[in-house]
Amino acid sequence: MNKLISIVIPAYNEEENIKEIVGRIEEIFKNLPYNFELIMVDDGSTDHTLETIKNLTSIKQNLYFIEFSKNFGHQAALKAGLNEARGSCVISLDADLQHPPELLIEMLQKWEEGYDIVYTLRQFDKTISVRKAKSSKLFYKFLNSISDVEIEEGSADFRLMDRTVVDVFKQFTENDPFVRGLVKLIGFKQYAIKYFPDNRFSGDSKYDFKKMKSLAIHGITSLSIKPLNMAIYLGFIFSMLSLLYIPYVIFSFYNGTEVSGWASIVITIVFFGGLQLIILGILGIYLGKMFMQVKGRPNYIIRSTNMK
Ligand code: UDP
Ligand code: MG
Repeated sequence: MNKLISIVIPAYNEEENIKEIVGRIEEIFKNLPYNFELIMVDDGSTDHTLETIKNLTSIKQNLYFIEFSKNFGHQAALKAGLNEARGSCVISLDADLQHPPELLIEMLQKWEEGYDIVYTLRQFDKTISVRKAKSSKLFYKFLNSISDVEIEEGSADFRLMDRTVVDVFKQFTENDPFVRGLVKLIGFKQYAIKYFPDNRFSGDSKYDFKKMKSLAIHGITSLSIKPLNMAIYLGFIFSMLSLLYIPYVIFSFYNGTEVSGWASIVITIVFFGGLQLIILGILGIYLGKMFMQVKGRPNYIIRSTNMK
């Protein structure tokens, strides 16, 4: 009996890509001694993504769909796929074919060699726009400078996880998980494969600057409480600095020029006001996360699926 491999693909408005990726993956498994199941998670698409998948399921019996009740985001879709997968290992990749499915062969080889997690590191070549390359570099640099968990640059959600890892991962019931950070956090024997991404087969990126920014903030605040400590240091530094004002005040008092300090007072008030708002904002983000966690709402809601 061959081992079962689960493939998980989150898809949000990817109608043009579905057929292609299903075909490419089938092609690969033709030459491999495994059975596979392909789980496509439709993350509340507004185009014909779901219909396209459903149509294919009627002719391919190892193809499954999970339909969300609305758009819950890439990470939630990934989590849903991992929760439902039944294979001895689970491989996740994007629907847009930027993650070349041909890499699956090498990933499975490494898995057979005994690695529990085989992840991939994206290398940039000339086909990627300078802006995307730069913003990605910045994203990881910032993330690592401020967070406790080191995340390597270019580690997207293109990875293989052994069944034991998936089972551990399923126990993580945290609200709004940041999957690539959690994977780094849980340890196990990990192996990295470097690859050059392909161009999107069809459609546009679903990650605009706004989504990238919120992913960065989310990545930091879901893995680390360093920003909270940073708030303390900042407050400490600035209150020390404000002590420097004392000699100035004494000096101007003896000089009889103490009224002329209006501008500096206003600047100080505005500056510290701003600083306090920033720190309150940081506290707010963490408090908000606790609020959402306490409510214990599900990360996603499944409207329909053909997985029993
Ligand atoms: N995706 C999703 N829900 C979203 C946004 C994206 O399931 O709200 C999926 C998308 O269909 C794709 C993957 O996540 O399979 C990565 O998205 P995208 O290719 O747009 O990101 P990029 O490669 O530009 O970083
Ligand atoms: Mg993409």
